[in-house]
Amino acid sequence: NRRFLLVARPDGMPKRDDFRLVDAPLPPLAPGQFLIRNHYASLDPAIRGWLDDAPSYLPPVALGDPVRATTVGVVIASEAEGFTPGDWVMGLNGIETHSVAQAGGFTQVVDIDAVPSPTHFLSILGAVGLTAYFGVTEILQPKAGQTLLVSGAAGAVGSLVGQLGKRAGCRVIGIAGGPAKCARLTDDYGFDAAIDYRGKDGEALSAAIGQAAPDGIDLVFENVGGMGLDATLLHINQHATVALCGLISEYNTAHYGTRNLWQLIVKCATIRGFLISEFLDRFPEGAAAMAGLVREGALRFDEHIDEGIDNALPAFLRLFEGSNQGKMILKLA
Ligand code: NDP
Repeated sequence: NRRFLLVARPDGMPKRDDFRLVDAPLPPLAPGQFLIRNHYASLDPAIRGWLDDAPSYLPPVALGDPVRATTVGVVIASEAEGFTPGDWVMGLNGIETHSVAQAGGFTQVVDIDAVPSPTHFLSILGAVGLTAYFGVTEILQPKAGQTLLVSGAAGAVGSLVGQLGKRAGCRVIGIAGGPAKCARLTDDYGFDAAIDYRGKDGEALSAAIGQAAPDGIDLVFENVGGMGLDATLLHINQHATVALCGLISEYNTAHYGTRNLWQLIVKCATIRGFLISEFLDRFPEGAAAMAGLVREGALRFDEHIDEGIDNALPAFLRLFEGSNQGKMILKLA
């Protein structure tokens, strides 16, 4: 069993010395446990938060443990009822070639025949697709004619949010890094306008937002935080809603300290943080809705698959460099 262990708490951007790759023997299974051969691991920005020893919605990854990640794989041995060798499963396990999971935990059997690729359980049918679905339908509740601004727009969540916004009849503006990603926003994902934040200071970014949204912004889907959120707040309309999904620009740095919160008061606006786990009991509904849209060809989604557990760190760091072109996934088998 090859495992990607956390051995030191990263200070800022994670570096090689914070992790160790080890080969460990497979432990024997206790009653109620089963052994998974992991095929793919989902590399999510949230993992960065789990590496810190700070209060969060999950306990921090313990030093010496494999880095926590959602994986999809096949049961290869089982002492647990309901899990049979050959079953495909998805769950919160670790970046490791094999995981021991417990019946009654977060790992569940998935219907592999329903998807063209098991990776879909980590992208469109996984947390990413559900975050976009519930973030848009429940938190933003868009109405036709409204203007929606999405940050991190060319990413896994953002690209889906923009498309769902278009389907709801919104004018959709995306912020992303670089001309190639901006071209993808309008050409591939159907955004009405794209703003490249790279090389812009707060003032230039605010000017670009103002130009793209001359009538102001009614809905914000925020994935990035920092300077971009600050610039965006200067353009919100009365009773705007800001869905606070992520703050990726602040995950490896001290928090930026949003300076324009006053605008929320001025505009009687709502800012609402949310976690996808709030909607746990409605996951089947969300996954069915997203699967339906994919079947109809109404939704485009991209996956970026890097190969090999030895590439876990560079693959993970793509999320912070912006070099991932779609949902970041690591192939383990
Ligand atoms: P993405 O596929 O969007 O990848 C991350 C992207 O973030 C990068 O490609 C990069 O795009 C952008 N980025 C990274 N660093 C910066 C920076 N300093 N400034 C601006 N942009 C940056 O990842 P996901 O779709 O998986 O996640 C997107 C967001 O959604 C994250 O904030 C994540 O934490 C959040 N999330 C929240 C959930 C919840 O339950 N609340 C669930 C799932 C995700 P670019 O090239 O454009 O810079």
